[in-house]
Amino acid sequence: MGSRVIVLKGIDPYHTTIKGLQNFPLPNLKGRRVLIKPNAARLALPGEGVTTHPGVVEAAIDHLNEKGAGEITIGESCIFGVDVEQAFQATGMREVSERKGIELIDLDQVAPMEINVPGGKTLKRIRVPSILKKIDYIISIPVMKTHMHTRVTLSIKNMKGLLWRREKARLHQLRCERKVAQGDKALDLAISDMASVLFPDLAIIDGTTGLEGMGPAYGMKKEAGLIVLGNNPVSADAVAARLMGFYPEEIPHLRLLGERGLGEIQLSNISIEPKYFLKWETHFEPPPFQFSFSLPDVVVHDEGSCSACLSTLFVLLHRYKDLLASHRLGDDKIHIGIGKYLENIPEGTLLIGNCANKVKERGIFVKGCPPVSSEVLKSLRKCVSQGLFQNS
Ligand code: SF4
Repeated sequence: MGSRVIVLKGIDPYHTTIKGLQNFPLPNLKGRRVLIKPNAARLALPGEGVTTHPGVVEAAIDHLNEKGAGEITIGESCIFGVDVEQAFQATGMREVSERKGIELIDLDQVAPMEINVPGGKTLKRIRVPSILKKIDYIISIPVMKTHMHTRVTLSIKNMKGLLWRREKARLHQLRCERKVAQGDKALDLAISDMASVLFPDLAIIDGTTGLEGMGPAYGMKKEAGLIVLGNNPVSADAVAARLMGFYPEEIPHLRLLGERGLGEIQLSNISIEPKYFLKWETHFEPPPFQFSFSLPDVVVHDEGSCSACLSTLFVLLHRYKDLLASHRLGDDKIHIGIGKYLENIPEGTLLIGNCANKVKERGIFVKGCPPVSSEVLKSLRKCVSQGLFQNS
């Protein structure tokens, strides 16, 4: 079957999705075990554009039941530092799962298994929850969001939540030899490696309310009123990216996936309904291209950090610099250290991330790998209240 994508316009997550599914041919799912992988990895409420709307998941469950699917499971593993049960409650996944009598599992609590990544450029093996052995059909249900490292995060990137525990962070820490990378970032290569062995069977992209700008967590919500369905998730992602105002070939991981033959990203080669779908194109504010902005009173000591630490730092400085303003060293500057090769840093430097642990006696250490901004903030507020900051 060729790549087929349908786009629906509508603000009601449940009704728009169910209408799409009723018009979308699925394979015979009778008795087959299905895993629904939403984005429910953060503490966010439905409609904030950070996590999948539970109405979209509910529509998928109802449709699967109508088609006679066997056991249906919703599975997710949260980002580091997030309480899983709180996230399941906040995102509405717990409520949907209970009302529908569907199992909702924390994939990080399942025993892991390793799978090989044949031909992987950055990944040779990955660890995933062993429940995947029993799954016949995977549905990826992401939110339509921009992403500071990958431009967009859609159904393929959403599969990163199937990596077991710390394996998720490993994707952000990979380095790749220049001659292998050929100009691409290790993270984009890793996503395409991952997708070669963790490929969803169906994509349902929740663009009812998405996120623009500083995604995946700190952007602004975007009421796009869209649902995108596709039997090839790469093609569905390409169409969704175009609807967000990006050309798919300019999104590195989508281009790599296309080059790898995992899916068509040229829209002219994809069967897309309705033909006039581009009239629903809605411009998502792109994520910042590079993490540099002028803060003359901040000195960042970055020795070997990975992208996850950098993005946390970026968000902190962008949004919460005022909180740090009271922590100035002798040169009247705010010193921050990240990365695994930190050595010569001034006494009193604010050290963020577990890699900075080895020099923690030289400053104020905030743990986390990757460090989560909300956790870093909590620690910083504690420092302020305890009078630990130099000038507070
Ligand atoms: S602490 Fe930061 S730099 Fe170190 S591995 Fe974790 S995310 Fe990367």
